This record gives sequence, structure tokens and C-alpha cells, in this order.
Amino acid sequence: MSGRHEKEKGVNVQVLLRCRPFSDDELRNNAPQVVTCNDYQREVAVSQNIAGKHIDRVFTFDKVFGPNAQQKDLYEQAVVPIVNEVLEGFNCTIFAYGQTGTGKTYTMEGECKRSKSGPNGELPSEAGVIPRAVKQIFDTLESQNAEYSVKVTFLELYNEEITDLLAPEEISRVASEEKPKKQLPLMEDGKGGVLVRGLEEEIVTSAYEIFTLLERGSAKRRTAETLLNKQSSRSHSLFSITIHIKEATPEGEELIKCGKLNLVDLAGSENISRSGAREGRAREAGEINKSLLTLGRVINALVEHLVHIPYRDSKLTRLLRDSLGGRTKTCIIATVSPAVHCLEETLSTLDYAHRAKNIKNKPEVNQKMMKSTLIKDLYGEIERLKAEVYASREKNGVYIPKERYYQEESERKAMADQIEQMGVTIENHQKQLEELQAKYDGQVQQCSDLSNRLDATEKDLKQTSELLENTENELRRFKYSLKERDFIISEQKKAENALAHQACVLRADLEKSLEDKASLFLKIAREDKLNADNRSTVNTFQAELAQQLGTLCNTLATSISHQSEHLQCVENLCNSFLEVHDKAAINLKKKVSASRALYISHFEAVQNVVRLHKANTNAALEDISALASSNSCSIEEFLAAESVEVNSVFKDLQEALSSHQGEMAHLVRELRQKFNANIEHLMDTSENIHGFLDKLLEESKRLEGHATQVDEMQTKCIVEFQNAYEEQSRSDVEKLIADMTSLVSKCMHRQKEMVDARLGDLRESINGNKTFVDGHLSKMESITTDLKRKWHDSFTQAENNFKDNADFSCR
Ligand code: ADP
Ligand code: MG
Repeated sequence: MSGRHEKEKGVNVQVLLRCRPFSDDELRNNAPQVVTCNDYQREVAVSQNIAGKHIDRVFTFDKVFGPNAQQKDLYEQAVVPIVNEVLEGFNCTIFAYGQTGTGKTYTMEGECKRSKSGPNGELPSEAGVIPRAVKQIFDTLESQNAEYSVKVTFLELYNEEITDLLAPEEISRVASEEKPKKQLPLMEDGKGGVLVRGLEEEIVTSAYEIFTLLERGSAKRRTAETLLNKQSSRSHSLFSITIHIKEATPEGEELIKCGKLNLVDLAGSENISRSGAREGRAREAGEINKSLLTLGRVINALVEHLVHIPYRDSKLTRLLRDSLGGRTKTCIIATVSPAVHCLEETLSTLDYAHRAKNIKNKPEVNQKMMKSTLIKDLYGEIERLKAEVYASREKNGVYIPKERYYQEESERKAMADQIEQMGVTIENHQKQLEELQAKYDGQVQQCSDLSNRLDATEKDLKQTSELLENTENELRRFKYSLKERDFIISEQKKAENALAHQACVLRADLEKSLEDKASLFLKIAREDKLNADNRSTVNTFQAELAQQLGTLCNTLATSISHQSEHLQCVENLCNSFLEVHDKAAINLKKKVSASRALYISHFEAVQNVVRLHKANTNAALEDISALASSNSCSIEEFLAAESVEVNSVFKDLQEALSSHQGEMAHLVRELRQKFNANIEHLMDTSENIHGFLDKLLEESKRLEGHATQVDEMQTKCIVEFQNAYEEQSRSDVEKLIADMTSLVSKCMHRQKEMVDARLGDLRESINGNKTFVDGHLSKMESITTDLKRKWHDSFTQAENNFKDNADFSCR
């Protein structure tokens, strides 16, 4: 997008400025400095003293290189991108412009001797733009591994004559014997460009050949310099590098990309300013540098966008036509000296360069050539050269005497000049004709435009007049209707005033009723508050009741658990007592049965012995009786012993029983005490509950009384208010009906409706409240009676239980 834009609008010529350092001479003479460079801000300031006043003039350029800038800096910052564009297929030109001795040749060529080059063929640090460009081109092409060819030409333009600086030595020498210089003609190439016929095109294959080329070129210039006084300051040199690079399209076709770099070392610029100042236009054609003057004029014409650009007026501008306002990218390096004695020239150079900044070029890439067409062209060239060689070898060309040849040649030259001049005039005429034609076309176009516009305007006029008529009619109608409207408005205003009065009265009434309403609202609020109080009292009462009932329940539960505990205890004691009793009885029985068995067995044994003795011995009755008595004694003793034992057992038993009895009595006593305490506690609790229930009844009765009282009061209040309000509204309505019957009646009706609805709601809510409180009270009453009954039942049951237990324990 931007690229296209750029292409359409053009690219400005890039202008750089270089200020050389003080020369040894200048340093020796302590020459004051008048030029200061600010490389960073791209500014050059020139100090002047005009009529004792110190004046600074500041110029801004695309780049500024101060006295400290090295060749390498300038090249890398300014020329590298240009050479890259040449390698992309653009044509580019670099001019060096400035006063003699300011460093044009130094910048373009520099000190470029093979002896000064580095070990790896590196260029010396003093090398200028030409050798560095050649080296960059070769380095880039080598690194790309491209197939390419590089050709260079080097020519000098002096006094409108072109000399080839690369022409072979011997021919040059022959030529110099016959003529001071061999001139080369400038010819149209038929494609809108120009070419120098017979100019040596040197094919360069490596960067190192540049040393030879430059040495050859400068050797020739030096010769010329010695021959012609100070010629170099008046001559231009043009070093051109043409690059062809082979490229393959994706389809496999081979294309040739072509780029050309022109490096121009112009003649000293002091010539033009001096000629302009001193000699005037009349003598331009003579000794003054025509090419430089024409270059200046071409630049002026381009900057001022003149129709005719005088390219054809000089050979330099013809050669470099494409670099000025054409399809070439152009850069101008302006060189200046810092010293005061060059001030005038320095200012003129700065002005000139600053002016050149405004030239716009429209750079275009050279069209890529097909390899085949290039080969065809080359074949044609070979054929032509072959024919020339053949003619010279066979000597079958035309031969004429030298004088005649020179004469004819000069005539031819004059004719060629004439033809050229005529060509120029024809071109001028053609241009004038084109301009006139363009002007004529413009006029015709303008004429037709104007007549179209006239037609349109006439139509517009007709339409406008019709419109005007219509508008006037409408205006009349509008005026009439306006009057009507005015009348209506005045009437309406009157009615409005009356209405406003009525509205005021109505408003006062409404305000009054609003006040009434406010008082009503206040009353309602009070009533709401009362209701809220009631509710809170009932709530607190309810909470207290619930709490006391809770504590009652708890006490009951604990007493019941106590009782059950006691009963359990009694049961356990009784069980243990019975067990002990049973055990003791069983033991006693066992012991008695054992002693009885013992006794029976002893008795039987004794009987048996007696019977034995009775049967066996009658004889020894005495012995036996003795024995018997002893036996009976022993038996008696035994019996006594046995009875003692039995008695002790009985005594033990009796003691155990008596101790048991004591224990039981103690237990019973304890039980009785505990029961008594329980009963007392229950009595207390029941008394409390009775008291509480009485209080509850009392409280509920009081609440009932309060509620009925409040209800009565509220109803009375509402009735009162209703009466008052109805009375008030009735009177109001009556009064208002007199004023605005329909509106007010509607309003009042709506208000009454609203108030009635609100009152109905209020009454309903009060009734609801009352029924709720009543229900609650009745429920509470029933609960208390129920509770009383239940309590009584449980109490009697507890009493009975107690009695039973006591009986049982006594038993
Ligand atoms: P011109 O071609 O403009 O007449 P030259 O290139 O011949 O000027 O320069 C004149 C002298 O100034 C030469 O001796 C050159 O070495 C020296 N010179 C010019 N510019 C510089 C520079 N930037 N740095 C060092 N020396 C320079
Ligand atoms: Mg020079």
C-alpha cells in the first residue's frame, strides 16, 4: 500500500552533506572555522558576519558527515543501502557536488592504491565510494552464489566532449598524437535513453581489478591535467557499474536482472556561481561549464515543476536524465570546506543542495530480460562487429584521404549538432503543441462544463420560481391560519386563567384533606404501636409460661426418677434379705438333719451294743450294769455336748436374724424418711404449680380485660374519626360540588373507597388479632385445667404407691 503510494508520489532525492577537515595549509594559517556540523541532528550551521552582525544559518539534510567522519562511516551509512537497491534491479546515481578542493574526488575515489590494500585484499581506509561499492557488489554476489556479470565504464566530460577513461593505452596514444583527445559521440538508443558510442565496457570479474581500473582512469586524467591547465576542476567524471544477475523463475525460465550504479564526480561548483555573477547568460555557451549550468537549471525546473525541463541542453543532463526526475534513485553528496575563505562558495553549495532535496524521482525496477532475448541482442552485436572486422581486413570498405575525412567528419559533426539542435527545437515545438492542445482541451472541457452548468442553473431557476409562487400562496394561507390561531389562543388563555383560579381553590381544599389524612395516618400509627405492645406482652407471657412448664416437667421427671431409684433400692434390699434368710434356713435344716442322723445312728449303735450285752452277758450283769451306767453317762455327756452345739447354732441363727431385723428396721426407717421428704417436696411443687396456675389465670383475665378495653377504645376512635371524616368530607364534597361537581365527586368517591378499604382491612386485622388472642387464652385455660387434672392424678397415684410401699416394707 505504502509502496504504491510512494511510487505514485515519488521519492525525494537524498541529499547528504560532508564537511572536510582543515587542510595543513589552513591549519598553518589559523583559518577560522565557519561551518559546524551536528551529525546527530543532521544539521549544518554556518556563522556569518554581515555588517558587524553575527548571523547563523542552519541547513538540515538527510545525513550530515562532519570533519571527523571516515570514508567507511560515510559508505556504511549512506551508500550501502543504495548498492543493495542496485543489486535488487534499480538504477541508482550518486553525485558529488561542491567547490574544488572540498573532497569530491576524495569521497568518490579516495586514495585507492593497491600498495595500500590489506593482506586479504582489504581496501585501504582512505578508499572512497567507487572501490567500496565494487567490493560490496562482488561480496554480495559471491555470497549468493549467483551467476552474474559486472561491467564498468569510466568517462570524463570536459567542455561538452566525452573521453573514455578506460580506452586502451596504444589507441589513446595514437589518438593523442593526432588529436588531443578521442571524442565519443552521444546517441539516442531508441528506447528513450542515450548511449556513448564506442565507450569501452570493461568486464570485471573480481573486486581487486578495481585498483587497475582506477589507476588507469586517474592516469589519463593526470595526463589531461598537465596538458590542460586546471582541467580537472572543470571536468565531470562518470563511473558506471552495470550488473546482470541470472535468476530462474519457478517455471524454470531464466531471467536476467539488471541494475546500474552511476557514480558522478562533478566539476567544481565555483564555476557556476562565478559565471552567474560575472558573465551573464550571453557567454554561457563558450568557456563556462555548460553541463553544470544546465544541471542547475534542470534542478530548478524540476523543483518549480516547470513543464519544460532542459535536459537536452547539455551532455551531462542528457546522460543522467533518468537520475533527475526519472525512474532512478538519486543521492547527492554535497562537499564543503569548514574554512572562512570558502564561505561564499559553501553557502552557495548548501543552498544548491538544499534546493535539490525537493526533486522527486519515481524509482522503478528494471524489467527483467529473458535470457533468450539477451542472447539474441548479443548475436546481433556480434554480427555487426564481425562485419566491421571483415570490412577492415578485406579493405573493401570506403577509403578517403585523411583531410577529407576530417573535413567530412567536422561537417558531419556540425550537421549532427544542427540535427540535434533541430531535434531540440522540434521537441520544444512538440511540447508547446502538446501544451496548447492540452490547454485547448481544457478550454473545450470548461466550455461544455459551463454550458451544462448554465442549463442546470436555468432549470434550477424555473423550479425555484415555481417554488416561490407556491410558497407565497402558502404564506398567505399560513398568515390567515395564524390569525385564527391567535384568536383561539387568546380565548384559551382566558379559559385557562379561570381554570387556574378554580384549580387554586381546589388545591387549597385538597391540602386540607391531606392534613386530615395525615392525622388519620398518625392515629393508625398509634394503634399499630398499641397492637405491637399487646403482641409483645402476649409473647413474653407465652415465653414465661413455656419456661415454667418446662421447669415443672423437669422437676416431675427428676422426682419420678428418684422414686424409681428408691423403689429399686428397696426391691434389691428385700431380695438380698430373702436370699440370706433362705440360705440360713437351709443351713439350719442341714445341720439339724445331720445331728439327727448322727443321733439315730449313735442310738442304734447303743441299742445294738445293749442287745449284744443283754444277749451275751447275763453273767457279768454287774460289769454290764456298770458298763451300762458308764455308757449312759457317756451318752448323757455326748448329748449335753451335742445340745450345746445345737444351742450355739440356734443362738447364731437367732443373732443373725435379730441383726437382720435391726438392719431391716433401719432400712425401713430410712425409706420412710426419704418418702416423707419426697412427699414434702412434691407437696411444695404442687403448691407452687397451684400458685402459678392461679397467677396465670389472673394474668390471662387481666389480658382479656385489656384487650377488650383496647378494642373498645379503638373501635370508638375509628367510629369517631369516621364520623368526623364523613362529616368533613360531606361538607367538603358539598362545597366542592358547587365548584366542580364531576371531577371532585369522582375524586372523593375514590378517596372514600380507598379509606373504607383501608379501614375494613384494619378492622379485619383487629378482629383477627382478637380472635387469635381469645383462642390462645382458651387454649391456655384448657391446657392448665388439663395439667391440673393430670397433676392431681399423678399425685394421688404417687401417694397410693407410697402407701403400698410403706405397707410392704412394714410387712
Ligand atoms: P575535489 O575533488 O573536490 O577538488 P579533492 O578530493 O581533490 O577535492 O580533495 C582536496 C584535498 O583535500 C585532497 O588532498 C584530499 O586528500 C583532502 N580531503 C578532502 N576531503 C577530505 C576528508 N574528508 N578527509 C581528509 N582529507 C580530505
Ligand atoms: Mg576532484
